[in-house]
Amino acid sequence: MGKDDVRARGGVRYRELETRSHVNRCSSPRMPFGFTSNPFRGCAMACRYCYAAYTHEFMGITTPEAFHSLVYVKTGGWEQTARQMASVVRQGETIALGTATDPYQPGEAQAKVTRRFLELAAQYRGLSLGITTKGALVLRDVDVLQRIARRSELSVHVSLISPHADLLRELEPWAPPPEVRLDVMRRLTEAGIEVWHNLAPVLPGLTDRESDLDDLLARVAATGVRRVMHNVLFLRSPTKEKYLRWLAQAYPRFLPAYERAYAGRVYLSGRYRDHVREMVGRLRRKHGLDGHSYDEPKAPAEQMALWS
Ligand code: SF4
Repeated sequence: MGKDDVRARGGVRYRELETRSHVNRCSSPRMPFGFTSNPFRGCAMACRYCYAAYTHEFMGITTPEAFHSLVYVKTGGWEQTARQMASVVRQGETIALGTATDPYQPGEAQAKVTRRFLELAAQYRGLSLGITTKGALVLRDVDVLQRIARRSELSVHVSLISPHADLLRELEPWAPPPEVRLDVMRRLTEAGIEVWHNLAPVLPGLTDRESDLDDLLARVAATGVRRVMHNVLFLRSPTKEKYLRWLAQAYPRFLPAYERAYAGRVYLSGRYRDHVREMVGRLRRKHGLDGHSYDEPKAPAEQMALWS
């Protein structure tokens, strides 16, 4: 890739960004990992509910539109990355790859920065690495993933929130359709990689119907995947405003309930979370799946229960 505006694809511009290291400490006590790695800043998948857009306000990326249309490809920093990876192994910590961007978004086909990170990870023994993605491009790296899995703990978390391709085209316009992601789960599992189904976020009113989740988990189970992690929608500014504007156009009947439920808070909790946890747990057992919900923050006692 060149230095600037290296590629235009689907209206997305890519630029290079020098980084000191591809491994960063994660200070959030809510997260089950100590370190993160994000090969890109920005994400071309352009999910309506993207939880990551706000994390880049410090860079002047203040709107979800900017986060999804200008993607920085991180370059350099490999010596420091190697030193930090060795330190992570010594500490027995976990690196989560793809917490604030999708490491297999379309730009990775050319950038190969995720691939380079994995090639480095494959040189270590005893690393703990989790990868979260919606991208089918992960199949390109099966060889290196197998090498990592032989020497370290590795899991790939494939995100899929609905079995309905039409709905996902609205919600996640540049992510592959459900059948493709189910095929990714199947092929990674067949390759001996530990795969989790990432059922997050569950969107109130849109993807939380029991019959849909039943269908989805049945299809996931048929791929050979055995573990599911779920979470309910996290919604904060500036994504919140963008999501609600879209909802007002596409599903106006849900707007008043969302506005009330997320007024002054970023997480739903209370009875709605309990309801989703109970339902997903029951469906998991039905389909022979293991798993759990993400760690949940304490919620205000007055949390409304409109969605229950
Ligand atoms: S794949 Fe993840 S980081 Fe990328 S737009 Fe969607 S939610 Fe945001």
